[in-house]
Amino acid sequence: MTGGPRSFWQSALQVLYPPACLHCGAEVVQHGTVCATCFLHLQSVVAPYCQACAVPQVSVEMLGADGLCPACERHHPAWGKARAAFVYESVARELILKLKYADRIDNASFLAQHMVRIGQDILVEDALVVPVPVHRWRLFRRRYNQAALLAHGVAKLAGLRCQPDMLVRVRPTAPLAAFSRQARQDEMAQAITLRAARKPMVCGRDIVVVDDLLTTGATATACANALLHAGARSVSLLVAGVVPARPDVDMDMPT
Ligand SMILES: [Zn+2]
Ligand SMILES: [Zn+2]
Repeated sequence: MTGGPRSFWQSALQVLYPPACLHCGAEVVQHGTVCATCFLHLQSVVAPYCQACAVPQVSVEMLGADGLCPACERHHPAWGKARAAFVYESVARELILKLKYADRIDNASFLAQHMVRIGQDILVEDALVVPVPVHRWRLFRRRYNQAALLAHGVAKLAGLRCQPDMLVRVRPTAPLAAFSRQARQDEMAQAITLRAARKPMVCGRDIVVVDDLLTTGATATACANALLHAGARSVSLLVAGVVPARPDVDMDMPT
């Protein structure tokens, strides 16, 4: 006899809740995925992309010998490498926004699968997976931290440890987009700290910081600096979505 109670309940669930596309709701063959049409509108990040900011480039000539775009060559981010699963547009943007604001927590495991795919070379043996923290007021309103859901998903699939309480957001921050690069970094540097009790875990360790989105990089910079200050061997960044053209990068581009 094949199957047991588990497969019975799985079959029952399939009947009660047939698998639906995470984006448009069309019927699909298994839970936690998107339909073929929506998949076509997902823009996966593929080479060539910048090693440090994960932004795809139109041609490999845009990257220097070290794999960096011109903006990252001028100002290398605080972290080492960054990897992003998708360009933050169209279906990927919707999946990330709904994870963040519409309680669509099932989107996290789908996004995490694709983050692991692109993040193979930073998810090294014994690396520690750490989510970007949210302030407790926001946690109270939303009930969950979308970055922590992604970090748990990534760590589970990669066979690594996730430490969700490593970093703490000690004060809420205003939306940062309107500030200058320096003002954003100053604001975030004071808002994010390392939990003192977790400091021994960081020393000499490769850390992968996980967030839903890489936009200005101010939050990730504060996380990376806190971890490097505590003695991390390396800090990499793994996100679900990257904004194709970052405003602060545009300002740094040679004219
Ligand atoms: Zn669909
Ligand atoms: Zn770059």
